[in-house]
Amino acid sequence: MNFPINGARSARNYISILKCPVCGGRFDANGPQSLICPQGHAFDMAKQGYFNLTIRPAHSHYDKELFDARRSIITGSRLYAPLHETIAGMIANRAGNPASGGLVVDMGCGEGSHLQKIMHGLGPSGWIGLGVDLSKEGIRLAARQYADGLWVFSDLAHAPLQDQSVQVVLNLLSPANYREFKRILAPGGVLVKVVPGADYLRELRETLHGDSNKRDYSNANIVSLFRQHFSKMEVVHLKYRQWLDTEALRDFVRMSPLAWSAEQAKIAAFTDRDGAEITVDVDLLLGRNDSLS
Ligand SMILES: [Zn+2]
Repeated sequence: MNFPINGARSARNYISILKCPVCGGRFDANGPQSLICPQGHAFDMAKQGYFNLTIRPAHSHYDKELFDARRSIITGSRLYAPLHETIAGMIANRAGNPASGGLVVDMGCGEGSHLQKIMHGLGPSGWIGLGVDLSKEGIRLAARQYADGLWVFSDLAHAPLQDQSVQVVLNLLSPANYREFKRILAPGGVLVKVVPGADYLRELRETLHGDSNKRDYSNANIVSLFRQHFSKMEVVHLKYRQWLDTEALRDFVRMSPLAWSAEQAKIAAFTDRDGAEITVDVDLLLGRNDSLS
C-alpha cells in the first residue's frame, strides 16, 4: 500500500510544503528532482528518493540493523497495529473535515513504518504523509521501502517546513520540539504525541532490569510539558498485549535501546523461547492549534 499521492517523487510535489533550510525562502522546482529557492540555494533529490535538507551535521546512533529490526516488528507483527488504528481514527475524526484531507507529518519518523501503517489506515482519503528524521540511515531506508512517500532528512528543531502548512503532526515515542510543532501546524491542526505509560514493554524491562530502578517509569513530566503548550489537550489511554514469536522477540530486542546496556544472559533469557506476550501501554496526547482558528 502506497501513500495516496501520485508522482510524489517529483520535486514539484514538495514546493508548497518545504522551505529552504538556509534562508527560509519558498522553493520552486528546478527540474523533476531538484528544489531551488529565490536566493539560489539548490537541493537535489537523493537517488533513493528523499531530500537532504539538513545544514548542520547530524548525530544519530541508530544504525541500519536497528532500523531493519524496527521495520520487521512494525510491519511483520501486530505489536503496534492497535496503536496505528487508533491514530488513524483520531486523524479521520478529529482533524477537521476528513473529506478535505491534508498533510500528516511524522516528526522523528525513523525508517517510516509507523507513518506508512497510519497512512494505510487512513486509506485513499486525500491525506498526504511526510516523514522527517535526523537519521539519514532511517530516511534512506524509508525512501527505499516506501516508494511513493515523501521523506526528508533534517534537523527536527529547524524543520524545513513552511509555517502553518501541516494539518496533523505526529510525534511517536520520540522527543518533541513544541515550538516547531506549533509553528508548522495550520490553524485547527492537531498534534498527536504518543508517550509510554508505566507498563510499556514491561516484560522487557522486567527481564533485563528486574532488580534495578529502570523498571519504574512515569510520563507525568512529559504530559505536564505538553499541557503547557496545548492547554486544551485530550489524553487517550491505550493498553493491550500482543504475542511475539521467537524471531519477533529477537527483532524486538535489537530495536530497543532498553536492551543495549543489558547482560547477554538476560537478553538470551528473553529471546530463547517460543514467544511471549508483550504489553503496549501508551498515552496518546492530542493538542489542537486553536491560536488562529
Ligand atoms: Zn535559500
